[in-house]
Amino acid sequence: MEECNVLIVGGGLAGFSAAKRLTELGVRDVVLIERMSGEHYEHYHHICGQAISERMSAMCQIDDSSTICKIDALKMECCGTEVRIPVKGRIIDRVKLLESMRGRTDARVVKDSVLSVRKDGDSFVVACTGGEYRCRYLIGADGAFSVVRKCLFGTEPDIRMPLVNNIVRADGEPGAIIFHVQPEMGGRYRWDFPIGEGLRSIGYVNGAWEQDGSVDKGIRFAVIGRMGKVTKGNCCLAGDSAFMANPICYGGIGTSLLAGRRVAEAIAKGNISSYQKWYDGDAAFNPHFRQALDTFSGWDGTQFADSIAPFRKGYSLLRGGYAILRRPRWANVYFSIWMAVRRGW
Ligand SMILES: Cc1cc2nc3c(=O)[nH]c(=O)nc-3n(C[C@H](O)[C@H](O)[C@H](O)COP(=O)(O)OP(=O)(O)OC[C@H]3O[C@@H](n4cnc5c(N)ncnc54)[C@H](O)[C@@H]3O)c2cc1C
Repeated sequence: MEECNVLIVGGGLAGFSAAKRLTELGVRDVVLIERMSGEHYEHYHHICGQAISERMSAMCQIDDSSTICKIDALKMECCGTEVRIPVKGRIIDRVKLLESMRGRTDARVVKDSVLSVRKDGDSFVVACTGGEYRCRYLIGADGAFSVVRKCLFGTEPDIRMPLVNNIVRADGEPGAIIFHVQPEMGGRYRWDFPIGEGLRSIGYVNGAWEQDGSVDKGIRFAVIGRMGKVTKGNCCLAGDSAFMANPICYGGIGTSLLAGRRVAEAIAKGNISSYQKWYDGDAAFNPHFRQALDTFSGWDGTQFADSIAPFRKGYSLLRGGYAILRRPRWANVYFSIWMAVRRGW
């Protein structure tokens, strides 16, 4: 059995962000286990809208080297009404970002699949196809179907959504990310994001739409749920393994990168509870997002049309206030969508 100080399961955004930050903080003897490599790995990680706000980019210290294009507007289309909101963000090349983080860590990256994890005294034993590891600290950054979560926390997501992502050649506003809300799907949406060179990323819940003429296509799962605890002893979950994507806009790039950084900082300080405290206190994980999703998931077409009506002549904070005053029972829906637009990606 091999031994190491920190073992990271999963070489996605959360995993490599943690590995990079651990190196920056001088934590040594780190192993990162990733089951995929080459084309499969790249394909998996390109199944994504790849949008992140400037606010999150700055917090996660993303430089311009992985930026494909800048975003200055978010358009929401619902029941024939189009609402345009100015935002600041960017589309990133996720694979480039992962490569850049990989180049900035001393962690030993091993290609293997983790099959199970168990606690053994003060340490963890991680069983992989190729052998076993014993570690002092364990980071579960293994995404939506996390083995670490299953084995040590026993929590399952409430919602698992298969999302289809198509790359298509299409004209469209280069600086706008577009959300076509589908009332018949409980407010799920189809996204249409620019990804440079006359290409767009068009995605939706599998079965909710059919896209012709894609030059590339893939399915990946988004998970929605709530973790009470994201730590157990010296084990921490980060990113999709802990359902950290926003339940309304599925923004999870920023929270995964940030979680990776925070967990590394907690390990470097030898203070795991500071990671739990960050999770408990960060507005990104506030239950009001989930409550809003539950509310509008039950709406019919008339309610969707009514909710967007105050914005027929465009978006403004004043119109948002008016909408809340006229429809107080939906105050949390208006507030949470606003927060998701501002802070959820
Ligand atoms: C279709 C789609 C579009 C999205 N678009 C956006 C967007 O535009 N903006 C945004 O902010 N968010 C978006 N998200 C959310 C975002 O992609 C995720 O929240 C984010 O990828 C989570 O990162 P992660 O590192 O936690 O997990 P992942 O990116 O899933 O990485 C997990 C890694 O762990 C590895 N792994 C898993 N199991 C094992 C195992 N047993 N052994 C070894 N390795 C393992 C996997 O191979 C993978 O490399 C989107 C999600 C989907 C599904």
